[in-house]
Amino acid sequence: MPGNDPHSHADLNQARIRHLDLRIGVDFAARCLHIAAEYHLDRMLSGPLDLDSRDLDITSIEAGGRRVEFELGELDAVMGQRLRLLDLRGADRFTLSVTTAPHASALQWLEAHHTASGHHPFLYSQCEPLHARSLLPCQDTPSVRFTYAASLTVPEGLTAVMAAACTGREAGPGIQVFHFEMPQAIPSYLFALAVGDLAFRRLGPRTGVYAEPPLLEAAAWEFAENEARLAAAEKLFGPYAWDRYDLLVMPPSFPINGMENPRLTFVTPLAILGDRSRMALIAHELAHAWTGNLVTNATWDDFWLNEGWTTYADHRITEALQGPEVDGLLQAVLLDHLREDIRAFGADSPHTCLKTSLAGIDPDEVFSRVPYMKGQLFLLSLEQAVGRTRFDAFVREYIRRFRFQSLTTEDFLAFLKQALPEAAEAVDMQAWVYRPGLPESLPSIRSVLYDDVVRRLRQFDAGALPSADEAATWHPYQRILFLRLLPHTISIADCARLETAFRLRETKRTLELYEFLRLATRSGYAQAQPMIEAFVEHVGNEYQLKRVFRTLAETGWSRPLARPLFERVRRRHHPITEGLVDRMLRELGV
Ligand SMILES: [Zn+2]
Repeated sequence: MPGNDPHSHADLNQARIRHLDLRIGVDFAARCLHIAAEYHLDRMLSGPLDLDSRDLDITSIEAGGRRVEFELGELDAVMGQRLRLLDLRGADRFTLSVTTAPHASALQWLEAHHTASGHHPFLYSQCEPLHARSLLPCQDTPSVRFTYAASLTVPEGLTAVMAAACTGREAGPGIQVFHFEMPQAIPSYLFALAVGDLAFRRLGPRTGVYAEPPLLEAAAWEFAENEARLAAAEKLFGPYAWDRYDLLVMPPSFPINGMENPRLTFVTPLAILGDRSRMALIAHELAHAWTGNLVTNATWDDFWLNEGWTTYADHRITEALQGPEVDGLLQAVLLDHLREDIRAFGADSPHTCLKTSLAGIDPDEVFSRVPYMKGQLFLLSLEQAVGRTRFDAFVREYIRRFRFQSLTTEDFLAFLKQALPEAAEAVDMQAWVYRPGLPESLPSIRSVLYDDVVRRLRQFDAGALPSADEAATWHPYQRILFLRLLPHTISIADCARLETAFRLRETKRTLELYEFLRLATRSGYAQAQPMIEAFVEHVGNEYQLKRVFRTLAETGWSRPLARPLFERVRRRHHPITEGLVDRMLRELGV
């Protein structure tokens, strides 16, 4: 590890990539990208250049018209391979031709029958955290930023999008070429592309949505408030730096809820519910435009700087647009998720610290709500120590001071001590950042909507379940929280009554289903089996899939179902999700 990033081979003393010019050919038949890249460095090299790579077929490297020798290091399961470019002395640019592997971890190639329209294949990338290196050799660390220009050649009839500005398109025989420019410098994990049968609908002057044609109408309705959301976020955090804020609706196998690719958030189709109830998800991805994309964690050990700050920022957007009661309710849901994740790791596990030490560990393997919600709770305690007016000035100064930069946890703490000394004094920073579990005193989270859920839970304990009419009037987060906070197991009869009252057989609300199906599994409610099978087939969310399969594998009656069911649905899911669930089941002896 020559640099400070335990997940990258890059040695930033050699040089930094400053700009890329890319020509990318998309080959659906062979499931690969053919990439010709010109790299521009920030200085002349005086020795070798080390880059990150994984599963790449590098056909040639040239500088100044001559061939450049290179060597590939040992393959490491987490870090991939070091690509060392030799005899580049005196050069500050070079070209490279590379072909990706069919199983490149950044890419998912979907056949037509796995898409909404069912007529065309679909390709998309997901580079966070360590997958950009399977697309092209790069300094795959969030502490290096570059601009780029790219052209994408795709089969006729398909549309290419990137997290960049589209500057033109042209047609050739059987092909289309799309041109893109990314003028704002990004770290490699925010490099993103997708190709499919996509249509676009304008939502406002700076906002729009891309989706497969059958989903476009519903998506445009669901996300119609994005322009207002963008204005509200600017009021809180300062001017939006990325020109446009568009969404791309992904296929169902997309492994996460959303990915904050700049200018173009990738979002799960499961957010399209016809009731605009997953707006907190959009608030979160939008907030990343300031916290994460603009001010970035220097390494994945500082991930809470991206996610804790963004969870804090999305709470402020939700509070401004939907009011403190709904926001407080959402916070209560998140806090319960955090407690569950801490219990699962063990309260003294190092994975429950904000600052982590993940050298040798794949960040995907230990993904949890800890950096999100524990990070936010730390920031809320700083806010509550100095008051909101003072803290708001600090937030704006933090974003202004570190824009287009990457910082470590220690950089942040030094800035905090200097810019907000009274908060640094009042809050136990060591405990929050470097110690596992949760500190004893937590910032208060209040909501009458939450109190109402607690009252309903007491009624349940006394034997009263909500009727279908009642449950229909609850806020969607009340329904989720109610299901989460029920006892660990309940009677089969109560499972059946809940299923009816919440209309779970016909619901599209996968967050509710997720809670109910785990509860039903633990409670031995075998009648839920068809719903469980449908869920793991259609919901691509990695966090939820892992936990549903874990519950199946850990419960007596359902344990024999877990492996056959996984084998049946595994090919529908993203290769990263598939690998993670497979490894988890093996560890559980299934
Ligand atoms: Zn996030």
